[in-house]
Amino acid sequence: MCIFCKIVSGEIPNQTILENEDFLAFNDINPTRKIHVLIIPKKHYESFQETPADIMSSMSKFIQEVANKVGVDKSGYRLITNIGKDGGQEVSHLHFHLIGGEAVGKLVRDKVE
Ligand code: 5GP
Ligand code: ZN
Repeated sequence: MCIFCKIVSGEIPNQTILENEDFLAFNDINPTRKIHVLIIPKKHYESFQETPADIMSSMSKFIQEVANKVGVDKSGYRLITNIGKDGGQEVSHLHFHLIGGEAVGKLVRDKVE
């Protein structure tokens, strides 16, 4: 079972921000900004690339609710999903990073050598 499936099952504890039948939002263990929430489907999909469009549709709505809940809907935020090796994905269970609570800076910095 992957690490995020273990979080869904309760085997690994998490700081939950919002939850419904299909999705879970919880604080990243290693936050990069004041607010850094991970948003996942409870069902395991490897990445965005393997995720059906209808799941993404309901996930979009859930992500908007998370933004409201943490109070960044007006101030703005960045939403990132890393996909596969070149995308820098470390955990192979679809997740979006919602980061904000302060300015997050430029999207792309230096090219990785
Ligand atoms: P990725 O690089 O796959 O896009 O991001 C994985 C994220 O998961 C990282 O930001 C990392 O800090 C976070 N993470 C890894 N293990 C755990 C964990 O056990 N609990 C929580 N809350 N976050 C985790
Ligand atoms: Zn999983």
